[in-house]
Amino acid sequence: MKKVSLIIPCYNEAEGLPAFDKEINRIMSDLLDYCFEIIYVNDGSTDSTLQIIKGFSEEQEAVKYISFSRNFGKESAMYAGFCNATGDYVAVMDADLQDPPAILPEMLRIIETGEYDSVATRRVTRKGEPAIRSFCARKFYKFINKISDADIVDGARDYRLMTRDMVDAIIAIGERNRFSKGIFGWIGYRTYWYPYENVQRVAGETKWSFWKLVKYSMEGIVNFSEAPLAVASWFGLGCTGVSILALLFIVIRRLIFGDPVAGWASTVCIIVFIGGIQLFCMGVIGQYIGKTYTETKRRPHYIISESSEKNIDKIG
Ligand code: UDP
Ligand code: MG
Repeated sequence: MKKVSLIIPCYNEAEGLPAFDKEINRIMSDLLDYCFEIIYVNDGSTDSTLQIIKGFSEEQEAVKYISFSRNFGKESAMYAGFCNATGDYVAVMDADLQDPPAILPEMLRIIETGEYDSVATRRVTRKGEPAIRSFCARKFYKFINKISDADIVDGARDYRLMTRDMVDAIIAIGERNRFSKGIFGWIGYRTYWYPYENVQRVAGETKWSFWKLVKYSMEGIVNFSEAPLAVASWFGLGCTGVSILALLFIVIRRLIFGDPVAGWASTVCIIVFIGGIQLFCMGVIGQYIGKTYTETKRRPHYIISESSEKNIDKIG
């Protein structure tokens, strides 16, 4: 009997977890040809998420949990799940029912054909999402696909079912600045894209604010961000913008009123403009240096403070 591991990253999901547990048990009861292992990863929640998943783990043998010492982010939670999953197939699934467990049987059927190493999901609509967020997301995917060789599909979710081989490849990529959508694309393998309509989360709120998403996309592009270096680049861009405005202002003022001192204004504008561009470029280079810095420190991806399994690495 093949084993399927489900990795569920949870950050303050107490409200929605009972509904998730009910749904996942309903789906599992129809999949009698498989045995399951459900790994809840508590990513430093501040609500009662940990108590709830401990409860599940006491009631059901298939349920395991890992609890982080603080909030390390969804990427680290997924990585911890991959490192500790023992299944022949491994799937990552959000705890808010936005990644419908109901399509899991179909995903299993597709992967069982042996034609694919992974069945990934893709939202075909972004219904219920703010328009500005959808717009920026579309532009981001277009941009990142232009500038990188990892194939990142628009609307791709982290919800995917993978073979053991693929999971081992993901674990082998131990980089600190993780952008899973890029990693999945980069390692290759044959992927089946399963389209589905966007689903609203069952309870609670998204953990991704607009700026968190902007930051995450920067991560995808450069793979990490060192705030002061980023500030340098934005400052540079700001200077450039201001100098352009000043230039326009001076030209218009000159045309309308005349200007007693000739030449100084354009010189200042040019100096500020070039200075701005230089700062901007330094900031961009700095972003890459920042990434190198975090990689060379080789800090762990996560620290586990508590878990249902006794023999696992607490630092990974
Ligand atoms: N999540 C996490 N750590 C975080 C943020 C989110 O483990 O720091 C989990 C969260 O509990 C959920 C999944 O990642 O199971 C997706 O988060 P969310 O629903 O907020 O993202 P969205 O679906 O809005 O993209
Ligand atoms: Mg969600």
